[in-house]
Amino acid sequence: MNTSPRPIYLDCNSTTPVDEQVMAAMIPFFTQHFGNPASASHQYGWEAEAAIQQAREQLAAAIAATPEEIIFTSGATEANNLAIKGVAEAYLDRGKHIITVATEHNAVLDPCRYLRSLGFDITFLPVQPDGLINLSDLENALRPDTILVSVMAANNEIGVLQPIAEIGALCHQRGVLFHTDAAQAIGKIPLDVNAMQIDLMSLTAHKVYGPKGIGALYVRRRNPRVQLAPQLHGGGHERGMRSGTLYTPQIVGFAAAVQLGIDQMVAETARVSQLRDRLWQQLNQLDGISLNGHPTQRLAGNLNISVDGVDGHALLLGLQPHVAVSSGSACTAAKATPSHVLQAIGRSDSLAYASLRFGIGRFNTEAEIDRVGGQAIATIQALRKTSVAL
Ligand SMILES: *Cc1c(COP(=O)(O)O)cnc(C)c1O
Repeated sequence: MNTSPRPIYLDCNSTTPVDEQVMAAMIPFFTQHFGNPASASHQYGWEAEAAIQQAREQLAAAIAATPEEIIFTSGATEANNLAIKGVAEAYLDRGKHIITVATEHNAVLDPCRYLRSLGFDITFLPVQPDGLINLSDLENALRPDTILVSVMAANNEIGVLQPIAEIGALCHQRGVLFHTDAAQAIGKIPLDVNAMQIDLMSLTAHKVYGPKGIGALYVRRRNPRVQLAPQLHGGGHERGMRSGTLYTPQIVGFAAAVQLGIDQMVAETARVSQLRDRLWQQLNQLDGISLNGHPTQRLAGNLNISVDGVDGHALLLGLQPHVAVSSGSACTAAKATPSHVLQAIGRSDSLAYASLRFGIGRFNTEAEIDRVGGQAIATIQALRKTSVAL
């Protein structure tokens, strides 16, 4: 076994550890209150159903929705698939045009590309160099046959926050449904489906110190009532929109995690953004470091930088023993492709490769940030020295 200390975890946009309080809330539902929430004939079922109802109410309240508008799924990937494919199928007679954005997560882009292969017309809006969409681009893209607009609340790579309320207002003015992937946003920034005029919203637990494998789709029931074609057929759970036995411990943990996120939101946003700014100030002492994404309109814990004059792969390898971060390239087998998000904001391939995404979270400390800052600076300086020598 490797006995050296594990690298400092700074990859909270990828996933987060389960908070101990969340874990404690989940445990009784594995072995004790294990009933099938759909079993209406005995106490085991009632206990599970009561816990799920409470979680549903808590989650609904967290986004100003009603409990009937929460459809539990296995996570945001499934919620995005259900929203996009479910709306496409249900509104076939209204049109076949969907608008999304080039910087969306693949869990939005791939269902859209799939629909395109079936004959739908998809508009992938560009973004400005700061990562935000231009509202007039969206306005100009809307057509009489547009059935859905899907724009993420917070970007998973560069952390930028799209103007969700303005997008919602525009969509509703034009009678078009608005879906947002809020996987990175829930528990981090305030979300209100009415104030923001959101019709469908994808959520997940594991980016907010909850368990993996659980999420939800918010589906508006009034003004307008959203129609959705189910993508999983079976026992008719979740009012027929998503069949499958509900996963009680995960659902209880999901609600507890979101509640903790909201309870701590103001204090944590301040603490984590202070750590993020501290890291940025340290790194920015070097020449040739640039910030990816809007400087202020972003998630508190996200710092994404490009480093000029170093090889991206060498940079990641150099940091790997010390810090767990992501880079702007998705390495598959032998081939690396630059991040589609960094390409969309206009970064060259080499700057997209030589990028680092720091995801700072609840359990990171100032001492850790200073160690990472020092380590990153030493690694970058060493790499630049060798490339000059070559
Ligand atoms: C993590 C993430 C997803 C995928 O969520 P899962 O629950 O892991 O399926 C989708 N969209 C965004 C923006 C994400 O950050």
